Amino acid sequence: MDRPHVLVIPYPAQGHVKPLMELSHRLVEYGFKVTFLNTEFNHKRVMAAMSSRGDDKGGKICMAAIPDGFGLEEDRNQHGKLIESMWNNMPGYLEEFIGKMMSDSNESKIKCVITDWTMAWALKVAAKMGIPRAAFWSSSAAILASVLHLPKLIEDKIVNDNGVPYINNQMIKLSPSMPSMSTNQLVWMCMGKTNMQQEVFDLFIRINGTVELIDYFICNSFYELEPSVFELFPNVQPIGPLLASSPGNFWKEDSTCLSWLDQQTSRSVIYVAFGSFTIFNKQQFEELALGLELSGQPFLWVVRPDLTSGEAAVYPEGFIERVASRGRMVSWAPQKNVLAHPSIACFLSHCGWNSTTEGLSVGVPFLCWPYFADQFLNESYICDVWKVGLKLVSDENGVISRDEIKTKVDMLLGDNEIKTNTLKMKEQTMRSVSDDGTSTKNLEEFIQKIKS
Ligand code: UDP
Repeated sequence: MDRPHVLVIPYPAQGHVKPLMELSHRLVEYGFKVTFLNTEFNHKRVMAAMSSRGDDKGGKICMAAIPDGFGLEEDRNQHGKLIESMWNNMPGYLEEFIGKMMSDSNESKIKCVITDWTMAWALKVAAKMGIPRAAFWSSSAAILASVLHLPKLIEDKIVNDNGVPYINNQMIKLSPSMPSMSTNQLVWMCMGKTNMQQEVFDLFIRINGTVELIDYFICNSFYELEPSVFELFPNVQPIGPLLASSPGNFWKEDSTCLSWLDQQTSRSVIYVAFGSFTIFNKQQFEELALGLELSGQPFLWVVRPDLTSGEAAVYPEGFIERVASRGRMVSWAPQKNVLAHPSIACFLSHCGWNSTTEGLSVGVPFLCWPYFADQFLNESYICDVWKVGLKLVSDENGVISRDEIKTKVDMLLGDNEIKTNTLKMKEQTMRSVSDDGTSTKNLEEFIQKIKS
């Protein structure tokens, strides 16, 4: 008998592709055929990184691509322009792609389109073609709640029609049972120097208008992590965390750092990684390097080829030589395995949602240096709600000094309360994805529904 076939569509960013690849692998284990549809641009990157791992087929997933409407050389960091191009061009390409599949007698019928909700144009295409639809939310449920609540935020005069809060830094509660958040932490207000505030707000208004098209709503969080949000939105099923170790990287992984970690003392290494988007200026980069040196601890630092703005990263004079015996820099790490390594003492992180749940799942404490979007709210969760980390405080120019880094590393490594909390959160996180955990049950329920 034909395996049930699902089509999975990620938003074209690393933190969205990886969890959906992980979900796809799970679906394959549950007997599905999965077609994973990247943009052509990312498809090439993912396939190149996969073949460098000796895995050029995406495991048992069928990897496919359609254009995003941009020329191959065009700058995809113009996110607003890219979003506009995708919403204008991709529906046509998707319809054609599905149409071809449907007319192919060797191809099984698509049972469900699972799309990142930020690509909600795909819901419209699937609805038009009579295919059931699931929306996937890759970040916290708290952020999802703010998007679902957008019309109410406008109606209650918390934000104006452009998403700008009437009162700066006003503490709001989206429901009586949810923790308060500041209007300054609304995602579109946290876009920093990217100039994307309006574009992100407009995107959220757009996707908010597609709720009626969603048959199943799944989220990369777990019930026990944000119970009040899931009580408020019972139709949203948490199935996470989707801890991604499977392929889906945009950069080639440098796995040699794992054998370097083997040589380090237990719980001694600071792992430093800022996900796929964060960009530092020269001064931020230099102070970070000098802070790691000053800490006196061994460190593993992911320095992406595009981590610094403008030219390539320049290390402070003599830095590489001085830290040679205890510092290791790589351009992209196998993060999930790194975090689980017994030599890791703490995680200096930008607090992306995947990094946050990956850290929780192995019980490492955090030093938080958020950059943009949901990362500020994730930092509040880490430091104020779950109490598993400390905030790094910057000066008025956004620079975190070397002394601040050294002081907070010392404080964090000596803090027994944080240590206890990380173990509690690790247990809770892993329980949610265990055989009879809440997320596993939700995933199995979702699977039964799309199969039937
Ligand atoms: N990641 C990785 N190697 C690295 C840095 C990051 O595999 O050197 C992965 C990380 O494990 C996570 C994803 O990339 O799954 C980044 O997602 P996140 O939500 O943390 O941050 P974003 O890139 O979206 O800002």
